[in-house]
Amino acid sequence: QHKSSFATVNPATGETVAEFDAIEGEEADARLEAANRAFDAWRRRPIEERAAVVGRAGALMRERKEELAQLITLEMGKLIAEARGEVDLAASILEYYAENGPHFAAAEPLDVDEGEAYLLNEPLGVLLGVMPWNFPLYQVVRFAGPNLVLGNTVLVKHAGICPQSALALESLFFDAEAPEGVYTNLFVGHEEISRIIDSPVVRGASLTGSEKAGAQVAERAGRNMKPSLLELGGSDVFIVLDGERLERTVGAAAAGRMANTGQSCVASKRFIVLADVYDDFVAGLRRAFEELRPGDPADESTTLGPLSSERAAADLVDQIRETVEQGAELVTGGRRIDRPGAFVEPTILAGVKPGMRAYGEELFGPAAVIYRVADEEEAIALANDSQYGLGGTVFCADVERGRKVAERVETGMVWVNHPTSTQPDLPFGGIKRSGYGRELSKLGMQEFVNRKLVRVL
Ligand code: NAP
Repeated sequence: QHKSSFATVNPATGETVAEFDAIEGEEADARLEAANRAFDAWRRRPIEERAAVVGRAGALMRERKEELAQLITLEMGKLIAEARGEVDLAASILEYYAENGPHFAAAEPLDVDEGEAYLLNEPLGVLLGVMPWNFPLYQVVRFAGPNLVLGNTVLVKHAGICPQSALALESLFFDAEAPEGVYTNLFVGHEEISRIIDSPVVRGASLTGSEKAGAQVAERAGRNMKPSLLELGGSDVFIVLDGERLERTVGAAAAGRMANTGQSCVASKRFIVLADVYDDFVAGLRRAFEELRPGDPADESTTLGPLSSERAAADLVDQIRETVEQGAELVTGGRRIDRPGAFVEPTILAGVKPGMRAYGEELFGPAAVIYRVADEEEAIALANDSQYGLGGTVFCADVERGRKVAERVETGMVWVNHPTSTQPDLPFGGIKRSGYGRELSKLGMQEFVNRKLVRVL
């Protein structure tokens, strides 16, 4: 079913704070035309000037840090300290591409026997970005920052539950002196997205979100022969190969699962633990989970926030309940927390088998699945028995051993001795049903680009 509501509903209380109207038809077309007109002038500006706009947006983001962090916490419920961290990360991405983007986009000479040959990195035009609520600033800037430096202009369809974050981003680029039409927020519904992709004005589409939304956007882009990039869900493994420094490993596991109240695409979701460490690991993780204290995410002392919406909480509890009905063991948690708001108990499932819901599906919240395996080979086979292929983590005191196992995990990213994370200067993206294409780093600037050959003889 199609939804086109844009409203701030505080997930810690269920209270509706603000509502916004969606646009469609001619009103949307006018914004597309403005973005198209803006592209002609924007691409012709020296890249240093475009980079300067993006750099100013980064600086403004730092100035507005507290206000933006409060907004993120209000709209999607992450802990205020995490929201501040997100603002810093997003600002550092803008600054990084302001600084390095021009160099990444420079012409590249090619070796030829005769005359000259080189590649120009030319922008494609107006891009549509469809973005999720889980990192309302970070997800948008990793799409918009590099593309704006490159010379593309962007239309952003943000998630329906964070409309004020969406507007704050549009104001930020406006105040950073991006000309009208260079960064455009669009409050549009799902069907309107398809119509926008059909428009000859739009030259590419990037979506971060669920597989269902990704498939719809990619299918539409494909029908129009337009490039697309998909950053979708994941069910990342966290493989534990030994019990050395177990306290540190357990701490990382809890952080890897619980950051953003578990609502991260690269959260550690499946814990695969060698048999001799298994009992101690489970006991440690259970203690860490049971120490978390639910409360208002805007309160500094809270350690467990709500999920982003009532629906998200209800869906997660259904997945857990059905998995237990299918025969899994509930080690801890599994229920809603008895208070207003979208709170779910930190949960651990064990004894999960193929065919059970939690074996194949992504759990987007504070719920971990733990598997006991006999050896490395079983760990790798279980890790790779997934429809997803986003990130992954291996913990091992012997770094060489950890690296060898990590290299065999079939994903777009894998981290050794740290939960999978993101940095402005490292590529991000997945394989299989986690999507395709890469954001961030030089690779992220080679997606919506015409790598044009110029041959001179
Ligand atoms: P979602 O429902 O797919 O929403 C993402 C965006 O797509 C929203 O703007 C949404 O609009 C829009 N959308 C939803 N259905 C659509 C459709 N049929 N056609 C066109 N647009 C549609 O995803 P979510 O639940 O917000 O996000 C959670 C998922 O995103 C998880 O699976 C997570 O792993 C994944 N994710 C992946 C990455 C990554 O980098 N790989 C990063 C973050 C999250 P409305 O809000 O208006 O419905």
